[in-house]
Amino acid sequence: MGIVKRSSKIYSTFNLKCPRCHQGDLFFTPTFSFRKPFDMHKNCPLCQQDYEPEPGFYYGAMFISYIITGFFCLGFTMFLHWVLGLSIATSFGILLAVCAIFFVYIFRVARSGWINLNVRYDPQKAKLVSNE
Ligand SMILES: [Zn+2]
Repeated sequence: MGIVKRSSKIYSTFNLKCPRCHQGDLFFTPTFSFRKPFDMHKNCPLCQQDYEPEPGFYYGAMFISYIITGFFCLGFTMFLHWVLGLSIATSFGILLAVCAIFFVYIFRVARSGWINLNVRYDPQKAKLVSNE
């Protein structure tokens, strides 16, 4: 089961699972896949939770993405420059490479976090789905 319980929002957010049953996938392809990186299911394949409750629902996810990326970039560059003693240019070069690699994951975690803030976990539904 791991450190984080399946019923917690942290589990669902970082594993990119349905916010209601915590078992259905949010995206078509695996977590770090660069194939169809932005394509989501319309509904949860298991409990039928609507993944886009209203038009423009994921605008809020942009703020989460911005906050994650902003603090990560600041912290990472300061770490490379001040702790490891790399030059500013090298630090930013490494930052760009790391951001290019993790861009898809940050995008997905932001969306997952946003829908998890707005949809409540339903233990009854989760039990029903896992029994099918
Ligand atoms: Zn579900």
